[in-house]
Order: sequence, then C-alpha cells, then structure tokens
Amino acid sequence: MRNKYPGVCYRCGKRVEKGEGHFERHASGWRTQHAECAIKARQIPPQRDADNYITQ
Ligand SMILES: [Zn+2]
Repeated sequence: MRNKYPGVCYRCGKRVEKGEGHFERHASGWRTQHAECAIKARQIPPQRDADNYITQ
C-alpha cells in the first residue's frame, strides 16, 4: 500500500515523502520503500536473458 507518512527507503536509504512509496509490515514494525525502488528490485534478476547471451 502507499505510505501515509514520510519515512526512509530501506532499499536506497533516501527519504520517502508521503505517497511516494510503499509501506509494508516487517518484523515487529513497518518499513518504507520508494515505488521506483520496488519496481527496480523486481527487474533485477534477468536470469533468462543472461542464459541467452551465454549460449552460442
Ligand atoms: Zn528508494
């Protein structure tokens, strides 16, 4: 869900303004990340592409 309060992004460590990121339950509290950082994190494992590059 969208963050209702400003916080610090646990991915890049920068400030997340209200509504700029996502809020999620973590351990006994909450953590915040930028919507942009969440998208980047999902795109990181391009394993299938890497395999395609290796095959010759
Ligand atoms: Zn971030």
